[in-house]
Amino acid sequence: MVRTHNLGFPRIGGKRELKFALERYWKNQIPQQALLETGLELRQRHWEQLSNLDLVPVGDFSYYDQVLDMSFMLGNIPKRAHRSLANELDQYFRVARGRSPKDSESQCVHAGEMTKWFDTNYHYIAPEFTSDTAFSLNPNRLLQQIEEAKAMGVNPKPVLVGPVSYLWLGKSKDSSDRLELLPKLLSAYKELLQKLASAGVQWVQIDEPILVTELDESWCEAIKVSYQAFDKSPVKLLLASYFGELKENQSLLCDLPVSGIHLDAINGQDDISGIMAQLKDDQVLSLGVINGRNIWKTNLTQTLNWLEPIAQQLKSRLWLAPSCSLLHVPVGLANETQLEHDIKSWLAFAIQKLDELNVLSMALNSGRASVQQQLDDNAAAVAQRASSERVHNHVVKASVAALHSQMEKRQSDYTIRADQQRQIRPLPKFPTTTIGSFPQTNEIRQARLRFRKGELSQADYTKFIQGEIRYAIKEQEKLGLDVLVHGEAERNDMVEYFGQQLQGYAFSQSGWVQSYGSRCVKPPILFGDISRPKSMTVEWIKYAQSLTEKPVKGMLTGPVTILNWSFVRDDQPRSISCLQLALAIREEVLDLEREGVGIIQIDEAALREGLPLRAKQWPGYLGWAIRSFCIAANGVKDETQIHTHMCYSEFNDIIEAIASMDADVVTIETSRSDMELLGAFDDFQYPNEIGPGVYDIHSPNVPEEDQIINLMTLAAQKIPEARLWINPDCGLKTRTWEEVVPALQNMVAAAQRLREIA
Ligand code: GLN
Ligand code: ZN
Repeated sequence: MVRTHNLGFPRIGGKRELKFALERYWKNQIPQQALLETGLELRQRHWEQLSNLDLVPVGDFSYYDQVLDMSFMLGNIPKRAHRSLANELDQYFRVARGRSPKDSESQCVHAGEMTKWFDTNYHYIAPEFTSDTAFSLNPNRLLQQIEEAKAMGVNPKPVLVGPVSYLWLGKSKDSSDRLELLPKLLSAYKELLQKLASAGVQWVQIDEPILVTELDESWCEAIKVSYQAFDKSPVKLLLASYFGELKENQSLLCDLPVSGIHLDAINGQDDISGIMAQLKDDQVLSLGVINGRNIWKTNLTQTLNWLEPIAQQLKSRLWLAPSCSLLHVPVGLANETQLEHDIKSWLAFAIQKLDELNVLSMALNSGRASVQQQLDDNAAAVAQRASSERVHNHVVKASVAALHSQMEKRQSDYTIRADQQRQIRPLPKFPTTTIGSFPQTNEIRQARLRFRKGELSQADYTKFIQGEIRYAIKEQEKLGLDVLVHGEAERNDMVEYFGQQLQGYAFSQSGWVQSYGSRCVKPPILFGDISRPKSMTVEWIKYAQSLTEKPVKGMLTGPVTILNWSFVRDDQPRSISCLQLALAIREEVLDLEREGVGIIQIDEAALREGLPLRAKQWPGYLGWAIRSFCIAANGVKDETQIHTHMCYSEFNDIIEAIASMDADVVTIETSRSDMELLGAFDDFQYPNEIGPGVYDIHSPNVPEEDQIINLMTLAAQKIPEARLWINPDCGLKTRTWEEVVPALQNMVAAAQRLREIA
């Protein structure tokens, strides 16, 4: 009999229960007990939803991040968070967010660095290491959850981040070699496995997603050493990789003395035969046959066609699962009442994916006839999608075919443009600006909701948003910022807002996916060829500009980010969808320019996270991604200033690609990593203007003026002052005005002092 299991379930809750409980707790509006109860309810609900499976994950639930959970379980807690410890969960939030609900202003610490989880839009808190990092196991949380799961009558399979991926995902704070910590770390893991065995656990899923990346000798060796060390493990280990292909790491994996291997059979289908050939007789092979990264129905018949021979060969040694944790898809379709019927029939969220898994295992275990109806329904939906007229637009396909390289280039080089831009819009040295959004207050959210429900007329809604724009402009003028923004009050989300105005997009009502901590995004669903019926932002920006003498930036989301933060088609290459988006944004850029908007920011917050996990595949991706940005941005006149913004600091490895986008100004996230990005400028002279973020907007803490000056002084050692801008790290929508005003006051004051020094 083929067995089924799951690698991880979305923890935020179908109605984002966890998000709301967390945020209330952080604001001291509910006691910790209430938060813990919500957590327990969610875990129990999820195990119930998974109860058809042979094994269910435990430890995939998290109050913030599973990597941070691992750090706490291993007792690897940054020293700065040790002080005046109330309880463990509060200490945990102190590391995650820079403060716990009990902390006073003076007890704030800088939050742990947040980094993208492989090529997803999930962010984890990077473990911190120094040469004297010690581990001391604290497995109580996990052990307790195992008991909870057992009480539900399910078969628990704890999920751990593997030791080598744990080291790899972390950062050395004293430039010592993380791998030197491996022996100590392995002792902690061994102790943990022992504890799990004592708790009656049979199988442990141990994730080493780094196996789908290019590993150098020392990391390969670390993998070998680690799993040799677990050879006589008291529990069976299912070693899981996902998100890509193992390629040259296949034999490394197959040589390890583990009881089972999980492969991503969606992104790593080509690995299957190689792994099968090396699989030992007593090893289990778990195939991730349902895509855990998108929301389309699986073509079940097609899957069975290739799976059946494997099942015949492996029998009960074959396990089936989604390709990766379902953390990256929404919980379920049950609450989706507004999706059009045909589009909804093409979709599968987490719960539906588990149903698909069930159908597959029944078909393998009892024959296709036992699930004929489900297979027929599935085939009908898949076929209807493939031929739907809503998916295919021949005009759009023709415009993409007609693209030419002239459309990718600015008229003149940066230096010529910069002169013209300075003449037309003189700005002080170290010009100050923000990244676009201002706080999204409850009032704003309410108004958008009421408008959507038809309780607020178009005219009243427009008036309301104009009021918000007026407020944002007035505040910025008071603060003395140089380049203003309209504040993005009309946008629920920087991608959904555009998707809603483009043809080819559909929207779920509650298709939330965790981005970090309590932050969720609701990725729109790009299902068909993309076109733009009319302008999307022009009226708001024009209104904002009419209120002030200072320049107001037009604010757009770029094609690569729209693509990377959407659920996208799996029936054509991503590059084609991206070019279609680029053409739509280009039309918007040209509309803005025509209406007199002189500065246009095109956010490519997510450009980096689309990078393939293997460096060998980077040039291919960067080729079409940068081309798409250039098509969107570079049709403007010389005097129009193009800005772009990126949400990350690891810049070094793609700095040349970023330079080739030829944006006049790029703003980036840097403050949490102490200007780490500046290393990029040692070997590469970035040719255009740059605004390294000096205010960490992911933390509620207000940056000090001196801190900002220090960061900018560091930046000025690498980049000529004349090309530096001063700005926060990212948009301010998640903050409150009470936090934002003092922070920006400090930022503007710092800019003024820098101008005096300079
Ligand atoms: N312009 C967007 C904002 O300010 C950018 C957000 C982002 O980079 N994630 O909110
Ligand atoms: Zn950002």
